[in-house]
Amino acid sequence: CVSIVTPFYNEAGMVAIYFARLGEVLRPLSERIEFEFVCVNDGSRDATLRELQDTVPPFGRLVLVDLSRNFGKEAALSAGLDFATGDAVVPMDADLQDPPELVPEMIARWLEGTPVVLAVREDRRSDGWLKRSTSAAFYAVHNRLADTPIPPNAGDFRLIDRAVADVVRALPERQRFMKGLLSWAGFPAATLSYRRPPRASGRTKWNYAKL
Ligand code: UDP
Ligand code: MG
Repeated sequence: CVSIVTPFYNEAGMVAIYFARLGEVLRPLSERIEFEFVCVNDGSRDATLRELQDTVPPFGRLVLVDLSRNFGKEAALSAGLDFATGDAVVPMDADLQDPPELVPEMIARWLEGTPVVLAVREDRRSDGWLKRSTSAAFYAVHNRLADTPIPPNAGDFRLIDRAVADVVRALPERQRFMKGLLSWAGFPAATLSYRRPPRASGRTKWNYAKL
């Protein structure tokens, strides 16, 4: 079983688009592989929760986690990881900026025996210059200081084997930076490169102060 774990915060209108696209892309695999969709509602103030409750997944199982308030993406993803039961777990954004089209290739690599399959962005053209430069500065400083580097231009979007998920789940950190923890866990990794598309619908939940 493969778990797709997605945090949803004020993503009304996105839920149907998300499941339509995942259904389309993953259906050919669904005869051989079981899927579990773990959707975490991160205290949305719009119709997201209702839309998720009304969803009938295209196949597989839907696990709905409803947080008591907005905790932020890191915590939402962490909660999703706790509920995921798959032999592999794929964290993925709700807005389809993490293209589901990469998932079949991730699964193929995983079935060949690679425990981590990273999705790395070819370029950051879909980001503004401020996000690009602050992000480049962050990785430069972090990777000079830290013993375990974080691969630049990778997000949370990746496939991790159950063994990796269990390591991350066992960590005691409560203020979590998932990308850092996922890198810290180690394990052999393969890399797929992709071009990040703009949001399928709605707008970013970040502002620069938050970032
Ligand atoms: N998200 C969340 N809680 C938040 C902010 C964002 O669960 O407080 C989710 C959001 O619904 C999306 C993912 O995190 O699935 C990434 O958010 P967004 O697309 O707004 O970030 P960006 O792509 O602009 O960095
Ligand atoms: Mg986004």
